[in-house]
Amino acid sequence: MTNYKAYCLDLDGTMYRGKEPIAEAVDFVNGCQAAGAETYFITNNAALTRAAQQKKLAEFGVQTDVDHIMNSAIALARYCKQNYAGARVMMIGEEGLEEALAAEKITITNENPDIVMMGLDRQITYSKLAEACLAIRNGAKFFGTNEDKKFPTERGLVPGNGSFLHLMEAATGTTPIVVGKPAPYMLEFIQQQGDYAKEEMVLIGDNYDTDILAGIRYGIDTAYVATGVTPAEEVLIKEVLPTYVLPSLADWPKK
Ligand SMILES: [Mg+2]
Repeated sequence: MTNYKAYCLDLDGTMYRGKEPIAEAVDFVNGCQAAGAETYFITNNAALTRAAQQKKLAEFGVQTDVDHIMNSAIALARYCKQNYAGARVMMIGEEGLEEALAAEKITITNENPDIVMMGLDRQITYSKLAEACLAIRNGAKFFGTNEDKKFPTERGLVPGNGSFLHLMEAATGTTPIVVGKPAPYMLEFIQQQGDYAKEEMVLIGDNYDTDILAGIRYGIDTAYVATGVTPAEEVLIKEVLPTYVLPSLADWPKK
């Protein structure tokens, strides 16, 4: 079953749908781990802390170390640390982003920031948006965790961080740098962490435009699963196909 050293799995639509685990994916991950492969979980969701994400996976029967959970908040904090050491950051976001910045010892400020970071903030107010807008207009760099315009809840689709990034882009005339999928930063950090060759990694996800494109852009193998947002017929007409197109992870090719 194991052909790769590092299996990088998307979460929503791949491991679970909202509050429901996807049984084939849970079995697959347990099989990979039993065979000695490493499993990583990568999500654009920047709101949850790693511990909260670990707990959610455990409730679905998936065990993981917190350092095998990668999200767009962790990637943004690391990107900032590697490229803008010492920068002071104004943050719009939730606990996940706050924790990621603290882990990299990045200074958070509300006055004269060097960088404005925007992640999903379900307590967003006009005054937070206005302060961020003024800071960017004063020359602060503008970074976003992820550009998903909407995301699914039990009641339907609601505004995602990408919708707020567009609002801020309209107000400032500045396009943000975004680190979430389809940008390949999260895969790059996993590669650095495990010192993998690209041939040893595979990206598994349900969304062609974020997951699969991130893998293709990074130059690793990709597996699309038809358990989430992109219908298989849409994937099959793409110019660049995933390495594998699978109904579910129960269909992973056996050696
Ligand atoms: Mg997904």
